[in-house]
Amino acid sequence: MDNRKKWILIGLVSFSFLSILLTFIFNRDAPPVSALEIPQSTIDFFKKLSDLGHVKFDFVDSLDVDNFDNDKDYADNFKKIEDDNFIIYYRDKPKEKLRAKKTLEYANQAVPDLDRFFGKYYYARDVNNRKLPIYLAASKSDFSEIAEKVGGTAVSWAAGITFTTFSSDGTKVCEGIVLSSTVQDDSRTDLKKVVFHELAHYNHFHCMNILQKTEFMNWEVEGLASFFANDWNKEIPSFTQLSKYSLMKDPANYTDSYWMGYHAFGLASSKGRLKAIVEDSYSESLLTAIPQNAGCSMDEFDQQWRNYCSTQD
Ligand SMILES: [Zn+2]
Repeated sequence: MDNRKKWILIGLVSFSFLSILLTFIFNRDAPPVSALEIPQSTIDFFKKLSDLGHVKFDFVDSLDVDNFDNDKDYADNFKKIEDDNFIIYYRDKPKEKLRAKKTLEYANQAVPDLDRFFGKYYYARDVNNRKLPIYLAASKSDFSEIAEKVGGTAVSWAAGITFTTFSSDGTKVCEGIVLSSTVQDDSRTDLKKVVFHELAHYNHFHCMNILQKTEFMNWEVEGLASFFANDWNKEIPSFTQLSKYSLMKDPANYTDSYWMGYHAFGLASSKGRLKAIVEDSYSESLLTAIPQNAGCSMDEFDQQWRNYCSTQD
């Protein structure tokens, strides 16, 4: 073997060795491998949630940069105010302009709280520089019209609707949040509380690892948003027979999932275990995350939760 061939051979052997070594080093602490696609059970859960509630989902094969581009937002006949993370679209009326300013103010107030509560907030820079659009409907018919253009059919009872699209590789985009005309300062559907509730949904869905998590509960989705917003959904309807409810199954009536979840997270918080439970629940079932962190079995937590609910106003 002449000298040149010998050096080429030594070079190739060294390169292969280095590649194997680097592969080993970089994969040593790699997280568990996720599924390559969203499990069908997850798609079914979110589609059912879309049918029942005010958070709406769509599933597509892939998302590209255009899907994140705010220049492609629905913006016909709207005025807007914006900052680094939000765009508030509103109808051209003095009263609506004031409501838009308030909405932007409340959205910014929510950000540090969301960051602490969820362990991370998804800023525009985290979602391909997409600013989160919040639309203010000026009337009942306007609410339906905007919702239809942004992502789909409005739910008449809803104060707000959040539209999210998942791509098969787990990427997400929020098309926007649409607020009903009834959402106003100091009304029953208080503007600040609704902004906090919808932003909690936006951030929660972004925190979830939907390629990995396979078990979801309705009460975790609505409970967490209501608990974060400290909104009116905490109210347990009179004459509720708590013995008929269990956190281990979703209630027959969707609206019960709000107070059920609210007080489940309230109990977790009173034990000082809320953050650990919430963060584990991004990639696994809450029915696993709770016993893992709450210092008791799921059965015991469930019993404590019924007692806890009976002490709430
Ligand atoms: Zn909600």
